[in-house]
Amino acid sequence: MTRHWSDRSLRNLANIHPDLRAVMDATLKDSPVDFIVIEGRRTQARQAELVAQGASRTMNSRHLTGHAVDVLPIDPADGRGKFDWPLYHQLAPAAKAAADRLGVSITWGGDWTSFRDGPHFELSWHEYPAGAAWPAHGPRMDAPAPRPAPEAPAPTGLAAWFNALVAAFSRVRR
Ligand SMILES: [Zn+2]
Repeated sequence: MTRHWSDRSLRNLANIHPDLRAVMDATLKDSPVDFIVIEGRRTQARQAELVAQGASRTMNSRHLTGHAVDVLPIDPADGRGKFDWPLYHQLAPAAKAAADRLGVSITWGGDWTSFRDGPHFELSWHEYPAGAAWPAHGPRMDAPAPRPAPEAPAPTGLAAWFNALVAAFSRVRR
């Protein structure tokens, strides 16, 4: 099946480590369920905000360095993004298989025992230490996130629902 990233996914994939991007590209192609990338690289300020809100537990997040993404599966039954463990259990094996094929070491937050984080995929700390600089000449990581055009209508329907969903599940984001 040929799938394409949504604009939102593409925004969240900007400034992500190219190896993780490659895994996500391959996963999108092969996964039995479609998904979107709901969060990518974060600024220190954004992470501090999430920690202050209790939405994240660490200032050592892999999101700060472009080594992690959060994804949301699309339920094939109704085309809606859902935080749904059965969907994650279809998506995660596809991501792991893609990573294996590409020789990239990843960790799925859903495998953590203390604080399961279904949406979260990251490059392994062991193979991808935080201090390893990349990309050498990439965009600034604190570049402001793209904003919708001023004439864009307020989110309605699926977009509004989706924003609410993301807010509701922000607690589990690392
Ligand atoms: Zn995450």
